[in-house]
Amino acid sequence: MTIKVAIAGARGRMGTAAVKAIEEADDMQIVAALDYKYDGLFLHGAEATEEVGGIPIYTSFEALVADVKPDVLLDLTGPDAVFQNMHNAIAKGVRPVVGTSGLSFEEVAKLAEFANGQKVGGIIAPNFSIGAVLMMKFSAMAARYLGDIEIIELHHDQKLDAPSGTAMKTAELIMDVREPHAQGHPDEEEKLTGARGADIDGMRIHSVRLPGLLAHQKVLLGSEGELLTIQHDSFDRSCFMPGILLSIRHVMNQQDLIYGLENIIE
Ligand code: NAP
Repeated sequence: MTIKVAIAGARGRMGTAAVKAIEEADDMQIVAALDYKYDGLFLHGAEATEEVGGIPIYTSFEALVADVKPDVLLDLTGPDAVFQNMHNAIAKGVRPVVGTSGLSFEEVAKLAEFANGQKVGGIIAPNFSIGAVLMMKFSAMAARYLGDIEIIELHHDQKLDAPSGTAMKTAELIMDVREPHAQGHPDEEEKLTGARGADIDGMRIHSVRLPGLLAHQKVLLGSEGELLTIQHDSFDRSCFMPGILLSIRHVMNQQDLIYGLENIIE
């Protein structure tokens, strides 16, 4: 059986790489692109044109579903679009596979409740890279012993949301094993707002945005007389593609919403 995939965000950097990866896979095909513009045009690479033969573009999800009946909606858009796209997909019984970051924990919980109630399988993966997932798992493992933690995430300067979805997910995994407590000196004072980063259960997250970077993260775990640093670097978007293909295959046999690729790899 060929899995029919619709994609939102197909003109973007991740989207164009994902379209290529899916088209190269034997067991799935791209059937449509969901966009907020270019209705009725066709996608050729990252360009929307009138030339028939590319991927048909829809601005209405209802019309897209009626015409091409996708099994999966892959969302690689941005923080303003992702919640509504996922909600629309679940409502129509189309399995969402989501790499877009920017969803809050509350939004993830709402979508999970909705998907589970509708028995629609799906996945939100803050990071599709297997190496990054291992970095998160190792961090949570180490946090059982070294509970004073600062996360430094570094991304390219076109990224819209901060902190990254990966940093949020890492913090969440650590929060499962770490007792909440304030870090640093009890009387510390920020001379410049934000200097100590975002506070999550007393842990700190720092977001760096610079041209030349792609996606990187260091988790620093400190204790008396020692420091453990767990680091992951993505140098190319190709590292996300195996996780996307794995997720698309996985949701076909699922009836609930999974948050995090670590839940589907051993
Ligand atoms: P990008 O190059 O800006 O691509 C996003 C695309 O989505 C753009 O073409 C944008 O169109 C389009 N878009 C915006 N709103 C839309 C809507 N309502 N419907 C359809 N398309 C819409 O960004 P990117 O680097 O590809 O990243 C996309 C998302 O993936 C980000 O949230 C990023 O953080 C995340 N990401 C996730 C992973 C992971 O492993 N999970 C890895 C890398 C990135 P315009 O160009 O017209 O604005």
